[in-house]
Amino acid sequence: MTIITFSDHSLEPSWQGQLQNAVRDPGQLADILGIEVEDIDTGFPLLVPRSYLARMKSGDPQDPLLRQVLPVGTELLKQPGYSTDPVAEQSIKGPRGLIQKYCGRVLIVTTGSCAVNCRYCFRRHYPYDSQRLSRDDWQALYEHIAGDCSITEVILSGGDPLMLNDRTLSSVTSELAAIPHLTTIRFHTRLPVVIPDRICDALLEWVDACSKQLVFVTHINHPNELDDSLSHALLLLKASGSTVLNQSVLLKGVNDDAAILTGLSRKLFSAGVLPYYLHLLDPVQGAGHFDVDERAGKHLIRQMSAGLPGYLVPKLAREVPDAPAKQVLIG
Ligand SMILES: *Cc1c(COP(=O)(O)O)cnc(C)c1O
Ligand code: SF4
Repeated sequence: MTIITFSDHSLEPSWQGQLQNAVRDPGQLADILGIEVEDIDTGFPLLVPRSYLARMKSGDPQDPLLRQVLPVGTELLKQPGYSTDPVAEQSIKGPRGLIQKYCGRVLIVTTGSCAVNCRYCFRRHYPYDSQRLSRDDWQALYEHIAGDCSITEVILSGGDPLMLNDRTLSSVTSELAAIPHLTTIRFHTRLPVVIPDRICDALLEWVDACSKQLVFVTHINHPNELDDSLSHALLLLKASGSTVLNQSVLLKGVNDDAAILTGLSRKLFSAGVLPYYLHLLDPVQGAGHFDVDERAGKHLIRQMSAGLPGYLVPKLAREVPDAPAKQVLIG
């Protein structure tokens, strides 16, 4: 039994304040961490909140959290097989913001913005500006979902859906909750990982009020990301009655190691979270240096299985364009 207490955050900036205060200048990052950085323009700028920076080790250019956010020259190399739309999302038609690829589930691209720019992100070239949703767009989405009884689950994604403010999220969840055939509303988010204070009272209020099953899929790649403040935030979500799962991306030089992944699974479980997917990298231009091949991925899962209960072993998966589900390779 875990006893959850609310700590006094009154002296810290709100999550919005922390977003504003995020580090965007590589020179500033270099000063804070005492490292050298390359001066390059990748077209996908540095963005990292200070609370995430604080979990990196000073003076270590190979820090696994730093590698996920620091622009490097190798991103500019063009590699065969890598594209700007690796999972063929940009050609999908339907109401604005909707991606209906799999049976029973629809995904909504709620916003283009994120609290952190992850170098390996498969949506780093996504034309988000053409996807901003107006009030009418939302209305059209509700009508589409209400008119299709085969849809039981709505996945709010992005960008990061928790970039929307709690007033908007409260309205979206109550509109969705009014659709009888929906059972589940799912959020895919990395925001609380980089700013744990995003799990604030206003968020817990609409979470508590929602009559549908809520699922939060967090995106944590390395055990060093899971510090006390993040564990605390995740336990609050769990205590709200939500299901909390985690997905990771398998990244060379970050988490391609059985001991690291095993440690992550154990730490997630202590924070009330179960591992869900371990994704192979989508072949997005600029991220080739993170690639771990399928054979190595399967080997890692076998090593994890040897040391963990089955429920702490994630499924190794990849996104295949035009397939009826994500392709599960092992796990
Ligand atoms: C990943 C994804 C889903 C959810 O798939 P699950 O296997 O249910 O997690 C749904 N729609 C799209 C477009 C996706 O990319
Ligand atoms: S938070 Fe998610 S969507 Fe945003 S840049 Fe990172 S991986 Fe991509």
